[in-house]
Amino acid sequence: MQTTVLTEKEVCEYCNGQGYYQLLLGGSETCPSCQGSGKKKGTDR
Ligand SMILES: [Zn+2]
Repeated sequence: MQTTVLTEKEVCEYCNGQGYYQLLLGGSETCPSCQGSGKKKGTDR
């Protein structure tokens, strides 16, 4: 089994690029890590 590492992606690991993440109790919150952009911070410069 090959392991493919997508290092070129700017998708936030926290919310998987959705811009928000699921709460354990239900519902969703805007991702504080990427501010709802769905992308990692600091990589676009
Ligand atoms: Zn995020």
